[in-house]
Amino acid sequence: MECSDRIRYASLGMNLSWEHIHVHTRYPFKIARPGASVDGVDVHRIIVCVEHEGIKGFGEAAPARYYGQDLDSVEQTLRAIQTSLPKSPEPISAWIDPLLHRFDGQRAAICALDVASHDWLGKKMRMPVWDILGLSPQATPPTAYTIGIDTPEVVAKKLAEAGKFSILKIKVGTQDDLEMLETIRRLAPDKGLYLDANGGWAPSGLRERIASVARFAPLLIEQPLAAGSFEVLRALSAQDRCSLPLIADEDCVRLEDLDQLVGIFDGVNIKLAKCGGLVEARRMITRAKALNLKVMLGCMVETSLGISAAIQLASLADFVDLDSHLLLADDPFEGLGLVNGVVTPNSNPGLGIAVRRGETQP
Ligand code: MG
Repeated sequence: MECSDRIRYASLGMNLSWEHIHVHTRYPFKIARPGASVDGVDVHRIIVCVEHEGIKGFGEAAPARYYGQDLDSVEQTLRAIQTSLPKSPEPISAWIDPLLHRFDGQRAAICALDVASHDWLGKKMRMPVWDILGLSPQATPPTAYTIGIDTPEVVAKKLAEAGKFSILKIKVGTQDDLEMLETIRRLAPDKGLYLDANGGWAPSGLRERIASVARFAPLLIEQPLAAGSFEVLRALSAQDRCSLPLIADEDCVRLEDLDQLVGIFDGVNIKLAKCGGLVEARRMITRAKALNLKVMLGCMVETSLGISAAIQLASLADFVDLDSHLLLADDPFEGLGLVNGVVTPNSNPGLGIAVRRGETQP
């Protein structure tokens, strides 16, 4: 993998460059959140490279329009940062922490810098990132395999491809939820199910909605209501919840969001692209556990490069949802394994990711 010469900035000792890549999902990817129910077939990402002492580290920016981010805002953020690059990517938190606060709404870009710095450090130390972090991938839970909102025929086709996965993440939040769950339970009676409404359910009738999906025996429900619907959720009794854990996603972006979720949610979905990278995600995991919140590690639609960063932390998670690279038709990277439904990092230095053989980009 080479750094792009197209957009390159250098400080006294550190270079920063980036490149736009365009990949495609194998299926349209529909979720319930208004404005996000796009086809999702075309996925645009920015691959960031930090270079220092002849070593290159790479990270992926996966901007989300929901959080006010797009390719332009990522590039604007990177251009703003290039004027104040440190001399070295290490110590990582020393330069990433101020950026998280300065660009609080542009954490997808900061994530790419944080991840590229970790990849760089691992290559410099000739160690995998998980080893530098004092973690072992041995205890990584199996990933959920995501089934987006779709027709019964397409859902059946996706289920046929999901045989190696013991857990399915089902996108719900439309009037067709029950029909889709009927199809899934008929074809996959023994799979664990995570339901993700992406805030698509209405506050009125929430109790009935939870009861109607509870008969399909899901393991949890993620973000049932739009972000900020705390009072409605707080008013639910354990019986109203059918004893199903509720997981915050859109309600949980950064470290400072965690404490207010206690008593409302049972766990949080932490995503590197959402929170700003490995430094912030590690802190969030520690704080969530201290607050007795379960931890899910999730993803945006990222390539193997983005997923390889999150998977370094996955042994710390209760639930893993790191499958988006498997949903791509043309992932330009390789290096992750898949063993009995568990996504695994390798032991190569850094993130252990390389450009897939035969690919020319980035
Ligand atoms: Mg979610």
